[in-house]
Amino acid sequence: MSSEAIFVPGKRKYAFCGDQHGLMLFSSVIERVKEEELLHEIFLIEGEPEWSQLSKYLKDQKMGTYLYVGLPNDQLLQAKLVSEAMGFSDEEAQYIGYGEKVMRVYCCRCHGINEMKNAEEEILCNHCGLELSVSDHYSVYHNAVLGYVAKL
Ligand SMILES: [Zn+2]
Repeated sequence: MSSEAIFVPGKRKYAFCGDQHGLMLFSSVIERVKEEELLHEIFLIEGEPEWSQLSKYLKDQKMGTYLYVGLPNDQLLQAKLVSEAMGFSDEEAQYIGYGEKVMRVYCCRCHGINEMKNAEEEILCNHCGLELSVSDHYSVYHNAVLGYVAKL
């Protein structure tokens, strides 16, 4: 996930999904797409995202659609999972987050949730003091990445 949207030429269609602020992050790309008169569509997400609506929207897209998603950082991962489930690979989508980036880490031992503001590889569990290695395995159920025992 990067922080700046990049225009990727040669796509059949461009789909911009996000809330008001998120879509603003794509304004230069949207302008370019309009200038070049390329097929595009804007899907505005208002308030709390309805993931089923986004997934329905994405499901209706034809092959060759390139996806831009702009949302607060704490919703971005969920949006990526929804998009991937609908068949959008990393080569077919860009996810741009904004706002404070709080990452939730699930402790494998005490099942407590730890919040961290910066991406760190290892943290101490706030609840049980275990040194956790932060994985890139995201659990939808816990809305957190999984933290494993750092050292045996
Ligand atoms: Zn713990």
